[in-house]
Amino acid sequence: MRATVMFGAGDVRIENVPDARLVEPTDALLRVTRACICGSDLWPYNQMEHSASGQRMGHEFIGVVDAVGADVRTVKVGDVVVAPFAWSDGTCVFCHEGLHTSCLHGGWWARDGIDGGQGEAVRVPQADGTLVVLPVGVDDALMPSLITLSDVMGTGHHAALAAKVAHGKTAAVVGDGAVGLCGVIAARRLGAEQIILLGRRPDRIALAKEFGATDIVSERGDEAVERVRELTGGFGAHSVLECVGHDLSTVTALGIVRPGGAVGRVGLPQHEQIPTTLTTFFDNVSIGGGPAPARAYIEELLPDVLEGRIEPGRVFDRVISLDEVPDGYRAMNERESIKVLIEL
Ligand SMILES: [Zn+2]
Repeated sequence: MRATVMFGAGDVRIENVPDARLVEPTDALLRVTRACICGSDLWPYNQMEHSASGQRMGHEFIGVVDAVGADVRTVKVGDVVVAPFAWSDGTCVFCHEGLHTSCLHGGWWARDGIDGGQGEAVRVPQADGTLVVLPVGVDDALMPSLITLSDVMGTGHHAALAAKVAHGKTAAVVGDGAVGLCGVIAARRLGAEQIILLGRRPDRIALAKEFGATDIVSERGDEAVERVRELTGGFGAHSVLECVGHDLSTVTALGIVRPGGAVGRVGLPQHEQIPTTLTTFFDNVSIGGGPAPARAYIEELLPDVLEGRIEPGRVFDRVISLDEVPDGYRAMNERESIKVLIEL
């Protein structure tokens, strides 16, 4: 079968790889119909050292079940299913607590011999715990929004929960990528009254406003902090969603949260330390977040997608084929595209 393999920074190819197949009785075999490129795929795209064997890619995908192992009970051949960006058994102590990314028997796509989502097929471990059956046809018009439940919409929702977004309060979203834009959707969905997006690019700002952003701050650093304070009566935001992971964005997020407020971090941290901890200590700021347990949120967010209350699929501004994936990476890396949808 054909799949996306990264061999080093800027070097993404579509390669012939061994066919995905059932190995364990708890596996399902999925024919991928939709996948996408993630902002987090751009970290290795910029930094990965050359590897002769390469690294499979992709952790957001929807597909049709082609075969199931003997122990699989909740999905069957022919089902259209969405996979969250981590696989999990759904039965361990952490899955029961809703933290599927810490599953005792789970793991990550495109690692340790597991297929990546940017390819023709995937062997899905722990199929019962991992996959969610979608009540739609394989080419339903809602596919773009449904595939955001794999990652970016669940991640935006996680940021909003970690930032304790509440009805009538102020939320600030740092970052205008797909996750930040989904964070705006999530903040509005949870009832925030004022939603401030920190972003600079006109196309993303326009979309953020349609998603519910009430104010836009395009300054950076200290000027951004100052501007958010002006917009919030001098105090800062109750809830701050950090959706980038850079040092500067983290400093900004911590600088715009008001005393007693909360910062939800979902941008993959590019540095080891959280800065300005003394200030956040004296201000009683909560700092939370991490990889979203997207599996836990699919059932909660799915009705809103199916009934059209939220449209996170609008973050996709380019649709490509598998052959065009290398150019899709380039386009996202050059900020020519917010997020790329792959149709197989
Ligand atoms: Zn588990």
